[in-house]
Amino acid sequence: MYTRLDRLRAILVGRELPALLVTTPANVRYLSGFTGSNGALLITSNANLLFTDSRYLIQAAREAPTFAVREIINPERPLPVALKAVAAELGLPRIAFEAAYVTVAGHRGLSEALAGVAELTPVEGLVERLREVKDPDELQTLRRAIAITDAAFAATLPRLRPEMTEREAAWMLEVALRIGGAEAISFPIIVAAGPNSALPHARPGDEPLGLNRPIIIDMGARVDGYHADLTRTVTLGEPDERFRQIYAIVLEAQRRAIAGMRPGALTHEVDALARSYIAAMGYGDHFGHGLGHGVGLDVHEGPGLRRAQPEAPGVPLQAGMVTSVEPGIYIEGWGGVRIEDLVLVTADGCTVLSQAPKLNV
Ligand code: ZN
Ligand code: ZN
Repeated sequence: MYTRLDRLRAILVGRELPALLVTTPANVRYLSGFTGSNGALLITSNANLLFTDSRYLIQAAREAPTFAVREIINPERPLPVALKAVAAELGLPRIAFEAAYVTVAGHRGLSEALAGVAELTPVEGLVERLREVKDPDELQTLRRAIAITDAAFAATLPRLRPEMTEREAAWMLEVALRIGGAEAISFPIIVAAGPNSALPHARPGDEPLGLNRPIIIDMGARVDGYHADLTRTVTLGEPDERFRQIYAIVLEAQRRAIAGMRPGALTHEVDALARSYIAAMGYGDHFGHGLGHGVGLDVHEGPGLRRAQPEAPGVPLQAGMVTSVEPGIYIEGWGGVRIEDLVLVTADGCTVLSQAPKLNV
């Protein structure tokens, strides 16, 4: 079986890159296991180096045993200076860096230190592409995060009362996630009641949950760095006819998209399965966001299920990808309905990982 580093090296060889400097924290963790706040990796054809400072030397040896640790000392030997020494020692003519993460100031520091020693080459998305396909360890962790999320939602739902505020409900959900075993919440929990639920990313406030109106709950547990992401729309009391109709449309849109998920299916085609149904039912102008996103060490990562753009065409799904499928319909002044599950692409189709209950409408 190929390791993550083997797969990365194959890409570096293909692109004729002698070395990659990895500074994006999620990529550092993915490749090395190191979780400290100050870490950078240098991956060459035959060396794995981890740069960190004295606070993390013991942790680095424990979490990243296959990496040789090089100490950074500020201000005497910051990363660019330590990197220069390694470039000279290993005779590296070029070092690729992660353009999406290095700041302008960081780039200036690197190019000044490496002047005359090694050239800097910007690259984007190399490690992120690898991260899109989960290995068995990652799937196991994601499943745990998802199970904690499902259980926290199911345990909290019967305790919600119309007079509670969105903020109180969000806190109850957060407590349930933490007691259930989450190391953190994946993102600030959304509880949006009534007209607030028309805002896809509403922030919980003083609004009471109220009766007979939509309440969108969007939440997730983080476990060992991996993020779950779940949305359910509920009502306290009896949902009215409009709610039932819209809920049924969103649920059917989700079902259609999931039915189309298999290796080789293109991301924008999966998006279209849900989007075209919502449009056909007359709500095309009320579903503005993408259908879904990958989850993993970031709560939003590749691949994105969305309309194809000239600069971002659709990509084929692969077995091992885990994405959200979260169609929604949002109506200003009334509210919204969004239903979000996490789905694993398998060799012959897909499996819905989220198990939190949905409404029978
Ligand atoms: Zn979500
Ligand atoms: Zn999501």
